Amino acid sequence: MNSTKTILLNNRPSGTPTTSDFKISNLELSDLKDGEILLQAKYISVDPYLRGRMTDQKSYIEPFELNKPISSGMVAEVIESNNDQYTKGDFVSGMLNWSEYQIHNGAELNKVDPNQAPLSAYLGVLGMTGLTAYFGLLDIGKPKEGETILVSGAAGAVGSIVGQIGKIKGCTVIGIAGSDEKIELLTNEFGYDKGINYKTTKDMNAAIKEAAPNGIDVYFDNVGGEILDAALANINRFGRVIACGAISLYNKTEQPTGPRVEITLIKKSVLMQGFTIGNYAQKFGEGISELAKWLTQGKLTHKETIVEGFDQAPQAFIDLFSGKNQGKMIVKAD
Ligand code: NDP
Repeated sequence: MNSTKTILLNNRPSGTPTTSDFKISNLELSDLKDGEILLQAKYISVDPYLRGRMTDQKSYIEPFELNKPISSGMVAEVIESNNDQYTKGDFVSGMLNWSEYQIHNGAELNKVDPNQAPLSAYLGVLGMTGLTAYFGLLDIGKPKEGETILVSGAAGAVGSIVGQIGKIKGCTVIGIAGSDEKIELLTNEFGYDKGINYKTTKDMNAAIKEAAPNGIDVYFDNVGGEILDAALANINRFGRVIACGAISLYNKTEQPTGPRVEITLIKKSVLMQGFTIGNYAQKFGEGISELAKWLTQGKLTHKETIVEGFDQAPQAFIDLFSGKNQGKMIVKAD
């Protein structure tokens, strides 16, 4: 193997990304040195947060560089090893480049077992998005039995798991998603009690009030913007708002303003807290074993939208913004 296909950032997107913001290129591969492994990409996670890394702005994670590979969570197979810790045939997950093949020093990778769960699950329910649902809801939301939880982006990777954990904890869960098909999925597969299609609902504030006549105790926010405004209008006293994501704003060239939140937070003693999942790195083991236990017990189900073909990674990423995925969006690389 002396060269590999790689996907580079071609332009910094303005507004919604397009395929021309990416470039497929051939990169030379050098010989394996001592301590190195050769990896073949198996599954690529495409995630909304990658949009932020495409903008040249200081954040909790470095921006991508132009003409350099995009990277994200991936599962790969070790196909050659000069590193004692890895054997040919091992599968690993970690932050890797969007390259069909790559040489790696083996640091910060986790071995994953295809006999314990399908490899793709390590990018979803047993990976970053499952952990985000788990720690965001339980550590910040602290739901109590009998409370009402509202979740936006409810049919996606994080949201579909949040709703199910909410049910495990004995809560009423209401989901917001962008199509009637997704609303059916929420109630039929993910155990949500009710769903609201935000694309066909004119008055979100009234729709939430109707779905939750006693108000919302916990709002798990994956989208921000006007849906957050409507959720806050229905929040109960001592409510908790988990600011997990704001996908409705990621492609905006100018940030819209909304109603001010402080009076609501004060009057109703509401806690609103943001987080990034890296905050919980020390506790990932606990989260994964709990999620795995619920999966084995049949208390948790997970859905994936698998897009075939390495070259499709940019389009799969772009499709997150028009809601083409149900559950976790993943690219099967080979
Ligand atoms: P999803 O699987 O939920 O995919 C994104 C979904 O967002 C789409 O399917 C679409 O569903 C919805 N969406 C897209 N545009 C809009 C819009 N303008 N308004 C409302 N909904 C929209 O992605 P993830 O589960 O991976 O991520 C969900 C959120 O959580 C994102 O905001 C992400 O950035 C955030 N996140 C945060 C983490 C953290 O550490 N804080 C870690 C992981 C994710 P629909 O059809 O319903 O519109």
